[in-house]
Amino acid sequence: MKNLLFSALSTIRFGILILLWVFHGPTWTAQAQVCGTGPAPANNLSYLESLIPHYQAQTEDTNWIRLPVTAHVVRSSSGFGGMTETAVYATICNLNERFASGRISFYLSERIRYINNTAYYGATSYGPLGTMIDQENIARTINIYYTDLSGMGLCGFAYYPLSGPGGFQNDGAIVMSFGCSQPNGTTLAHEMGHYLSLPHTFDQTSNNPLDPNDAERVTRNFNEVAPRLSANCFTAGDRFCDTPSDFIAGRWSCPSSRTTLDLNNDVMKPDSSYYMSYSNDNCMSRFSEQQMMAMRATVNSTNAPRGYLTLNPYPNFPAITSYPAKFFPQITDTVVPNNALFRWAPINGASLYQIKIFQFNVNVFDTLVEDTFYHALGNRLRGMRQYSWIIRGINGGNLCTPFSPRDSFYTSTYVFAGVNDALNTSKPIVYPTALSAGDLLTLEGLQAGTPILLTLRDPLGRNVWSFQDYNEDEGRLIKVPGDLPFGHYLLTCQQAGRGYAYRLLLKP
Ligand SMILES: [Zn+2]
Repeated sequence: MKNLLFSALSTIRFGILILLWVFHGPTWTAQAQVCGTGPAPANNLSYLESLIPHYQAQTEDTNWIRLPVTAHVVRSSSGFGGMTETAVYATICNLNERFASGRISFYLSERIRYINNTAYYGATSYGPLGTMIDQENIARTINIYYTDLSGMGLCGFAYYPLSGPGGFQNDGAIVMSFGCSQPNGTTLAHEMGHYLSLPHTFDQTSNNPLDPNDAERVTRNFNEVAPRLSANCFTAGDRFCDTPSDFIAGRWSCPSSRTTLDLNNDVMKPDSSYYMSYSNDNCMSRFSEQQMMAMRATVNSTNAPRGYLTLNPYPNFPAITSYPAKFFPQITDTVVPNNALFRWAPINGASLYQIKIFQFNVNVFDTLVEDTFYHALGNRLRGMRQYSWIIRGINGGNLCTPFSPRDSFYTSTYVFAGVNDALNTSKPIVYPTALSAGDLLTLEGLQAGTPILLTLRDPLGRNVWSFQDYNEDEGRLIKVPGDLPFGHYLLTCQQAGRGYAYRLLLKP
């Protein structure tokens, strides 16, 4: 904490943050959910004031604006820590959903860039992160850095246009903490707001709600009768008239019971639904119309503050509206856990496939591959379990595509012979797979002259029956025990160092 105080004290820009920390520090307990972006600089405020005629003209175009993003994941010098690529993509997908109403979307111009540097990863002040931005920014894209900001007690921060490190057509960045980069978080949308010129809704006003010049008054009447003061929402506070005056510069849960009066003795009622307020994540859901128009204006012409973001042509990412067809495993198939091949059909436009495997409802595995198969080796999957999986195709412009339905499959015991179950045509055949207790089960394709071990497990994985014998022939009839309850069972057949599993249904 000392480091944060000393480093930030040296920067007037972050003075507000210090005041907050001193007066409200104790309420920020384990996870400080603070934005490190300071008040908007004067040039940003006057830029926003220049947009007033734009709001009143109502001449908004209806085009989609597509902005390139470069995502950087910061790790220690030895490659420790960081965030997975799929988790980063989930934040961009979520960001797109939050900006869709303003017809702004974000695409990835390349895959994740990793930066292995402990000085950046463990930064306790803005200095090393500024150096990082200077050295690592990719020009004409929105650079988002995901790193560990716990040393600074921050959720994230961003630079307003024409400020911060980086340089010409490369200025500033968004820096996100791992802790506030959860898939449904609002921090990235909030920081993107700053990056595209939006101040906090409480900017200026929270310093002193009674300040006659800088504090935004409650009234929206520009022709109040004296002694009442007229509206100043376009020239004070956050410079937006469709966000109410806000005085709360610390994290708050909605609705708030805190009130204060402006110079007209009107009660300020901050709106917790705006991303640019400091209300809690679950309170926030939107940008105002004027905020959206301001962000569009910030990128929408070549002389706009961030007009350079649209200089590179939008890559022609094909739309992805369906999910890949699964080849293997299909529902009820069995795979060898330490040598499992997952295969699916290619879909048009996909440059990457995301495969997720679940045990019960727990996502045990989530990765991206460029091919149309994934080969799970080692002990990633466990033996004699039920799993399920989903697959989808994505590209840099389509990160929220649909997943396939979730289908279950089974794993056999570990097999160390190295033959993949998916490709193995010599798997013994077992039938019927739906039968009644006490019925006969046929096994074909066994190895003659070797011992056989059959095991039956119930849905809870309990071993309810086993059978061991020397097997004379290539086929065999087995009687299923007559005292088992109805339901699904997993039959495993082990012979000569190989294991296979089958799903059985015992009917009434
Ligand atoms: Zn902020």
